[in-house]
Amino acid sequence: MFRKVLIANRGEIAVRITKTLQEMGIRSVAIYSEVDASAPHVLAADEAYPLGGKTPGESYLDIHKILDVARGAEVDAIHPGYGFLSENAGFARACQDAGIVFIGPTADVIASMGDKIIAKQTMEAADVPVVPGWTGEADNLTEITAAAEAIGYPVLIKAAAGGGGKGMRLVERADQLATSVESASREAQKAFGDARIFLEKYVTRPRHIEFQIFGDTHGNVVHLFERECSIQRRHQKIIEESPSPALTPSLRAKMGEAAVKAAQAIGYTNAGTVEFILDASGSFYFLEVNTRLQVEHPVTEEVTQMDLVRLQLLVAMGNPIPFTQADLSQSGHAIECRLYAEDPDNQFLPSTGKLQVYREPVGPGVRVDGGFCQGQDVSTYYDPMLSKLIVWAGSRSEAIEKMQWALAHYPVLGVKTNAGLLQDIMRHEVFRSGAFDTHFLEHFPPQTLKPEPADRDHLLAIAAAALTQAQPARQQTVAGEQSTLQNPWLLAGAWRGGA
Ligand code: ADP
Ligand code: ADP
Ligand code: MG
Repeated sequence: MFRKVLIANRGEIAVRITKTLQEMGIRSVAIYSEVDASAPHVLAADEAYPLGGKTPGESYLDIHKILDVARGAEVDAIHPGYGFLSENAGFARACQDAGIVFIGPTADVIASMGDKIIAKQTMEAADVPVVPGWTGEADNLTEITAAAEAIGYPVLIKAAAGGGGKGMRLVERADQLATSVESASREAQKAFGDARIFLEKYVTRPRHIEFQIFGDTHGNVVHLFERECSIQRRHQKIIEESPSPALTPSLRAKMGEAAVKAAQAIGYTNAGTVEFILDASGSFYFLEVNTRLQVEHPVTEEVTQMDLVRLQLLVAMGNPIPFTQADLSQSGHAIECRLYAEDPDNQFLPSTGKLQVYREPVGPGVRVDGGFCQGQDVSTYYDPMLSKLIVWAGSRSEAIEKMQWALAHYPVLGVKTNAGLLQDIMRHEVFRSGAFDTHFLEHFPPQTLKPEPADRDHLLAIAAAALTQAQPARQQTVAGEQSTLQNPWLLAGAWRGGA
C-alpha cells in the first residue's frame, strides 16, 4: 500500500490525481514552479514543495529537482500525469533507481513505444494492422522516392520521435517530396533531437479512434472501449466522446481485440492508449501507443463508471486488475470539450491574462476537471488549456444538449477562449449526425460556424447575467482592480472571443 505519492505535474491533471489519492487515504505531494505558488493543484495537495524556476525546463521537466523533493518527502511513488515527464523513459528509470515506483508502464516499454518506427514494426510483427508505409533509412532520397511511389500519393511524412503533431508533412505530389523530407527532418531534429522520419499512406477522410487499455503485473490485459477524437485543430484533439458514433458492435469488438493484442505484444502494464485511424471503408490501422493516462480519460470513466487513476494506483501497487473483460460495458454517452485560452479567429493563438470571471457550471451529469480559479493569471509558460468540461447522459443527443447547456453557463472573462467555437460545433448538423472526420474544422472553419444574430442575442443575455452574478465574487478575489466589465455589450464580445 502506498502511503504517499508525488504528482510530477501541474494544472487540472494534478488536481484530478490528488482527489483520488485523498479518497484512497494516500497523502498527496505537489510540486510547483515560481509561477504556480498559489495554483489550485498546490492548494489541493496535502504537501507542496517549490521547484523554483518558471519555464518547464527549470521546473516540471527537471528530473534531478523532482527526485530530490521525492526523496526528501519520502514518497513511495510518483504519478507523472500527462505531458512533461510522463513518456520519458529516463525519468521512469531514474525513479526506479531511486527506489520509487513510477506509476506507468516500464521504462523499456515507454522507450520502445516512444520510437514510432520501432512501435510500428513491433505491431506489424504482432499482426496488428498498421498504416501501409515505409520505415527505412532516411538519408537515402532515392529509396524514399521509390517508397513513396510504391505507397502512392498522398503520403504523410512523420517523425520517429514525433508527438503533438510535430514533424508531420503531407506530400501530395512527387515534386514536393525532397523539400518536405528535408523540412520534416529539420523540425524533428529541433523538437526531439532526433531527425529520423518515416512514410505513411495518407488516409483520406480518417477518424481518430483510440482504445483505453490496462495491463497488470500478473499478465492480465483488458480494454475499456473506445474514445472518438476526430474533432481536432492542428492535429490536436479538442472534443472527445465515448462511445464513437462510427463504431458498430462488431467493429468495436474487432478493434478492442486488436488493442489488447497490441498491449500483449509488448507486455504492457498500467494505463495506456492504443490509437487507431479508421478510414471511410471501415478499415482501421494502428497509429501509436500513448504510454500514460490520456487527457481525455474522463469520457471513459463516465461510460464505464471506473476511476482510472485508482486503477493505475492499484496496478502500480502490484494488485491484479479487479475485473475481467466480460465484466465491462459502456453505459450512456459522454462528451468532453477542452476549454482553451486561445483565439479560434486568429489561428488558435494562445491568449493570456487574468481570469476576471471564471465560474464552472454545476449540474447533474456535468463534470469539470479544472486547474484554474477566478483571479488567476493564464501565463505563457504552460499549455493554455483552462479545463475539460465533461458531460454524461443516456444518449448522444441528450449529451449534446447537456454540453450546450453547460457551455452556455460557463462564464470566462479576461482571456479569449474557444467556448464559442465549442458551442458552434455542438450545434452543427454534421457534428450532430456523427458523420465527421478529422478534417471537420478545415471543412467548416471557425468563422463559418458563427451563429445568426438572433442566437447572439441569447448569448448576450447570458453574458449580462454572468456579469451580474460575477460581481460579488470578482470584488472578493480581484479586489481593487478596475476592469472593463461594467458594460454587458462589451462583455458579450469578450465571451464570444471577439473583444
Ligand atoms: P492526448 O492524446 O492525450 O491529447 P497529446 O499528444 O495532445 O495527448 O499531449 C498531451 C499533453 O502532453 C498535452 O498537454 C501536450 O501539450 C503535452 N505534450 C505533447 N507532446 C509533448 C512533448 N513532446 N513534451 C512535453 N509535453 C508534450
Ligand atoms: P502524434 O504523436 O502527434 O499524436 P499521431 O500519429 O497520433 O501523432 O497522429 C496525430 C493525428 O494526425 C491523428 O489523430 C490524425 O488526425 C493525423 N494522422 C496521423 N497519421 C495519419 C495518416 N496516416 N493519414 C491521415 N491522417 C493521419
Ligand atoms: Mg497521437
